[in-house]
Order: sequence, then structure tokens, then C-alpha cells
Amino acid sequence: MVEKQLRPRDISDRRVLEAMAKVPRHLFVPPSYQSQAYEDRPLPIGNDQTISQPYMVAVMTQLLALQGEERVLEIGTGSGYQAAILAELARVVFTIERIPALIQKARKILQVLGYENIFFLTGDGTKGWPEEAPFDGIIVTAGAPQIPETLKWQLAEGGRLVIPVGPRYTQMLFKVTRKENQFLEEEVTGCVFVPLVGDFGWQEEGWTGP
Ligand code: SAM
Repeated sequence: MVEKQLRPRDISDRRVLEAMAKVPRHLFVPPSYQSQAYEDRPLPIGNDQTISQPYMVAVMTQLLALQGEERVLEIGTGSGYQAAILAELARVVFTIERIPALIQKARKILQVLGYENIFFLTGDGTKGWPEEAPFDGIIVTAGAPQIPETLKWQLAEGGRLVIPVGPRYTQMLFKVTRKENQFLEEEVTGCVFVPLVGDFGWQEEGWTGP
């Protein structure tokens, strides 16, 4: 996976490549998909949700530019795979998932693998985790209709927010960097994610906002 899908593309952060080589992705997918765990695509994880394509995990992680001492927030725990990658690269990871069954499964496998620097919250991640803010990095692994203001203001000075934004079935990956009270927004690449459902995301039935 690393040699064929990541290194030949634009993944050059050595620590990201090492983390992706180390974390056993097959343990994060249902048994019936384990033989496909290292293929270049997302896979179903139950509850109509997916584990993201390895390349997209690598791109988003690389954008956070982690050095090892950061506090990182992930919105959308899903299988727990991205949280494991982040836990290899940062000091502490806070991860929020709205579907209890998924966070329970993720917590179990991450415990079995021995990760002690990941903290879990069940609920609406569009509100962030104010009690633990500020964060050096925030990664949103579901597609948002717009960038939630709540998340921007939970960034530390110089912090990075990586988030897919756009219509329900196709989005643009954004990197937002905080400089004091300014937020620099950069477009990175097109992508497709399941919807971010919550107060500052999509409504269950479809977005009815502005
Ligand atoms: N990062 C995950 C992984 O490594 O497996 C993949 C995440 S999956 C593409 C998106 C996840 O975001 C789903 O599990 C979904 O339930 C969750 N989600 C959607 N809206 C959310 C919200 N408002 N708060 C927290 N999680 C949310």
C-alpha cells in the first residue's frame, strides 16, 4: 500500500509513511472485507459508514504537518483507523463519533493495539470539544456543507483544520490555518466523503440551510 499507492503520489512526509506502514488496517474493517483492506479505496464499516481510502487518510494527515507534540481533534472516528495513524504522530488525539456502535468497536480495537493517547467522545463533532480546546490540528473525516465556525475557533495559534466541504456527493478538501484571529483557507483536492451530520453540518434528511 505504501510503496504502490502513497510514495509514488505526493505523500512525502516520512513519519506519515512510517505510520501508514505500521498500523494494521485489516483489523479496522469487518472480517468479510479484510482481504481488501490494503486496496486503493474506501470500504464499508457498517451503519452506512466507510473507512476512508488509504491515500486520502495520508493526504489529510500530511496536511496537519504533525511533529510529535501536538494535541489533535478528529471528527468522525468511524473504524478508528485514522485515530491510530494520528496517535502514532501526535502527543494526544481526541476523537468524536456520533454513532455509538462505531465508537464502541473503534475503542475496543485501539485498546487491543495498546493506544493510550486517544480519548473518545460520543456526540455531535460539529460543535468540537470546547473543554479540550485549543487544538494544534483538527481533522474532519466527513463532508461538511460549510466550514463550521466553532471548529475554526478551537484551533490554537498556527493550528491547521483539514475538512472536506461542498455538496452532499462531492467535496473539496480545505486546509484552514489560524493566524491570530485570521483564517487562511486553501483548496487542496477534490474528494468524496459521507456527510457530516450535526448542528453545524447536514441535517439528517438533507441540508436545508442557506
Ligand atoms: N476516520 C474514519 C476511519 O478512520 O475509519 C472514517 C470516518 S467515516 C468516512 C465518517 C464518520 O463520520 C462516520 O463514522 C460518521 O458516523 C461520522 N460522523 C458524521 N457526522 C458526525 C458528527 N457530526 N460528529 C461525529 N461524527 C460524525
